[in-house]
Amino acid sequence: MSTPVPRTLRLCHLYPDEMNIYADRGNIAVLRRRLEWRGMALEVVNAGIGDGLTPGAHDLYYLGGGQDRDQAIVADDLARTKGAALISAVDDGAALLAVCGGYQLAGRGYVGVDGSSMPGIGLLDAETVAGPTRLIGDVLIAARLDDETREVAGFENHAGRTRLGPGATPFGTVLAGFGNDGESGHEGVVRGRAIGTYLHGPLLPRNPWVADTLLAWGLSHATGGDVVLEPLDDSLEDAAREVATGRARGERTERLIGRRA
Ligand code: GLN
Repeated sequence: MSTPVPRTLRLCHLYPDEMNIYADRGNIAVLRRRLEWRGMALEVVNAGIGDGLTPGAHDLYYLGGGQDRDQAIVADDLARTKGAALISAVDDGAALLAVCGGYQLAGRGYVGVDGSSMPGIGLLDAETVAGPTRLIGDVLIAARLDDETREVAGFENHAGRTRLGPGATPFGTVLAGFGNDGESGHEGVVRGRAIGTYLHGPLLPRNPWVADTLLAWGLSHATGGDVVLEPLDDSLEDAAREVATGRARGERTERLIGRRA
């Protein structure tokens, strides 16, 4: 029997003022539109410095990327006022998308470019230390969620090199680009319904499968059942992902030469 789907998904946007580089607000706009296209609504509550989290009040949490100085502003506050609540929310079946700087802080901690240590909350089994160069560019991964593997394309820009704990499950395997550290072949990490990833710029607009997985997880948390979403026409999103995929695989130059010839 299918679970009745609630009309509203409750999203908590963590540190929208500090952790919002690249397309973080765009990712939330995608979640909103994909719900609206299905007759549902997204309710967004912001949680900033000093705000606590009410247990059970949210189905999906979002923590975006930031520069080292933004991360330094929020790291202690996240650990002090929200870390434990976020871990129990995820253990309770709520979903989380933590991107780039947010991924690092959802892990065990981050040593930034200037050598300063920022605490993580240890929700994700991942430890990050900044390296001497930035890892920048289009990235393509074979991502695995809910026993399904699909190609996911994004953009990465990070100094941090992230190592996963021995039992951790990566979000995906790197097909092109750097991923967690440019060496392991791993990208991101998944724990329950929590995804940490370096992919942004923007992740969800061109990877609707990831957006819908997060929505289905959040709605499943809201109902306590297993929500399956009706598919949408994703031809535009798929075309955008194909362009990004081509760029990640280094096809852009070849295409330009082809056109000129
Ligand atoms: N400041 C972090 C790093 O450079 C995260 C960057 C980001 O969120 N784009 O690794």
